[in-house]
Amino acid sequence: MRIVLLGLPGAGKGTQAALLASSAGVPHVATGNIFRQAMTAGTPLGLQVREIVERGGLVPDQLTVAIVRQRLMEADAARGFVLDGFPRTVPQALALDAMLRGMAAPLERAVLLQMTADEAVARLAGRRVCPRCGATYHLQAAPPAPDGTCPRCGAAVEQRADDREEVQRRRVEAYEGETAPLVPHYEAAGRLLRVPAGGDVADVAARLRAALAGAAR
Ligand code: ADP
Ligand code: AMP
Repeated sequence: MRIVLLGLPGAGKGTQAALLASSAGVPHVATGNIFRQAMTAGTPLGLQVREIVERGGLVPDQLTVAIVRQRLMEADAARGFVLDGFPRTVPQALALDAMLRGMAAPLERAVLLQMTADEAVARLAGRRVCPRCGATYHLQAAPPAPDGTCPRCGAAVEQRADDREEVQRRRVEAYEGETAPLVPHYEAAGRLLRVPAGGDVADVAARLRAALAGAAR
C-alpha cells in the first residue's frame, strides 16, 4: 500500500492513517509527528522548525522533502506507507512523484478526507496528543485515560500549541492556499479518491476501506 491522505487540519488524517497503516502492516509516516517529536526532544531539527510549526506556517519544502526521503528509505517502508500531512505543497508533491519514480514504486492513491473548515476546526478544539508516542485523542470522541494520561504509553497528554484558535485559522489558510492545489494535481494523474470525513471514526474507516477496495478493482 502506497497512499497519501489529504485534508484540512482536523479532517482525521492522523486518526485514519494510523488505522490503515496498522491493518496494512506498513508505516504511518506523518511529517507533523516527526517535527513534534524533534521539538519535544530538542534536536537541531526541532529547534529549526519550532517557531514555524507553532505559528501555523509551513516548514520549507527542501527540508521537509529531505526528511521524507530519508524516512521512505528505511527498511519498513519497502512494503509501502501511509503518508499523512505530506505532501502539503505542489513542489512537495512533485518531489514525491520523482522520489517514487526513482524507487519504481508509484503512488497508488491520494485520498482526500472531505470536510468543511468549520467542522474540521470544531474537531481540533478537543484534540489532545501524546508528546511521547504521538497518539491522538479527542476529549469527547476518543478520550485519553481519566487521569489525562496516554493509555498506550502513560505520558500526560497535552493540547498542541498550534491547536490554539488564532493558529488554527492560519493553518486553514495555509491548507487552502498551498495544499488544496494538490487535489487537481492528483485528479489529473487519475489517483484521487474523495471520502467524506464526517461521522464517527469507525464509519470513516469503513468508508475509506471501501473506497480503496473499489478503486483497486
Ligand atoms: P488531522 O490529522 O487531519 O489533523 P486528526 O486525526 O488529528 O486530524 O483528528 C483531529 C481530531 O478529531 C482528533 O482529536 C481526533 O481524535 C478527532 N477525530 C478524528 N476523526 C474523528 C471522527 N471521525 N469523529 C470524531 N472525532 C474525530
Ligand atoms: P500536522 O501534524 O500534519 O497538522 O502538522 C503540524 C505542523 O507541522 C504544520 O502546521 C506545519 O507547520 C508542519 N508540517 C507538517 N507537515 C508539513 C509539510 N509536509 N510541509 C510543511 N510543513 C509541515
